[in-house]
Amino acid sequence: MEVHVSQIEKRSWLEINLTQLRDNYLIYKSMLPAGTEVMAVIKADAYGHGDVQVARTLSWAGCRLFAVSNIDEAVGLREAGIEGEILLLGYSSPYYAKTLCDYDLTQAIVSEEYAERMASTGAKFKCQMAIDTGMNRIGIDGDDTALCADIIRKYHDKLQLTGLFTHLCVADTDTEECRDFTWQQIRKFKAVADSVADLHLPYVHCCNSAAGLFYLNTSQEFDNIGKIVRLGIVLYGLKPDISNTIPEGIKPAISWKSVISQVKDVHPGETIGYGRTFKAEREMRIATVTTGYADGLSRHLSNRGHVLIHGQFAPIVGRICMDQTLADVTHIPQAKMGDHVVVMGSMGNLSYTADDMAEDLGTIGYEVLCNLSKRVQRFYVRPDASL
Ligand SMILES: *Cc1c(COP(=O)(O)O)cnc(C)c1O
Repeated sequence: MEVHVSQIEKRSWLEINLTQLRDNYLIYKSMLPAGTEVMAVIKADAYGHGDVQVARTLSWAGCRLFAVSNIDEAVGLREAGIEGEILLLGYSSPYYAKTLCDYDLTQAIVSEEYAERMASTGAKFKCQMAIDTGMNRIGIDGDDTALCADIIRKYHDKLQLTGLFTHLCVADTDTEECRDFTWQQIRKFKAVADSVADLHLPYVHCCNSAAGLFYLNTSQEFDNIGKIVRLGIVLYGLKPDISNTIPEGIKPAISWKSVISQVKDVHPGETIGYGRTFKAEREMRIATVTTGYADGLSRHLSNRGHVLIHGQFAPIVGRICMDQTLADVTHIPQAKMGDHVVVMGSMGNLSYTADDMAEDLGTIGYEVLCNLSKRVQRFYVRPDASL
């Protein structure tokens, strides 16, 4: 949707800054060892940002590798004209074998049983073998290198195998135990990759956002396995783990906005909202904000989170409703009907990011972004008017 953001008069909307997103990609890429490619992870509608918009922006910036979670996401991207490699990171029913061929998609092979089943369809689509190095989610067991190599060789012939990958499950956590475990995973994966090096598979990768920042190096440890980083959360300007430091200049690209529909005085002893969970102890002014849990504002932020109004924090009071939320604006006398509210993002010098919201919720920024409802319309700020 192409409008000037200052003209938006919606109930609840997202402003997505594709210039920032592109910059996040370029900054991250510039910090990787020379020659390392980024596979942009744009599953779950690009973590809520809009997968087609994000893929187009990154394609323009030179990205040609993408990863999604399922066939519908992949087909949607192709139908929108996205080129390059699209890897499906998770299971697709063998029923879709022909679709995988027709759309030139790459399917992750989640197990030997799955490989066999896919091979039996007779369809020749591209695939990459998932290797389980300790997460115990998907992949053939990486513990037995020789057995792994046999399976890879077998399906290299039966399927059109273009790569191998594994997933690191604690690369974002800087404790000795987690570092040991991550190196163990990396070495296990490298042993497998080395054992089939003669196949010259073009796509062999193990790093997510965190591993690309905290592990990937130019030493022999990453020979054969370090040429691609699967970049997810940091592309969107968030931290893999709240304890992480991410590179200077990488910032969230999303701003979630809403409006004040009314401001009213509430007197001592009165309560606010469903369940009467908030009781005014003093004279208060309460703003009704037109966004709620149906838009993705978790109800667990009731009496806990805040929004930004006129560049100041306004605490959420009472329970968040489906479509509306109440905020304390006693200290913001200029707040009035029609004023814009930042539900997530920054205003003036203050910000409340998806990571901040996640911290208040006891979850991760990933989940906060993925919970942004389809009902919240996305508006895009583009790096180039021609995009
Ligand atoms: C989601 C996902 C990623 C991206 O992880 P981030 O932490 O967001 O960088 C990479 N690889 C796999 C297999 C994934 O499922």
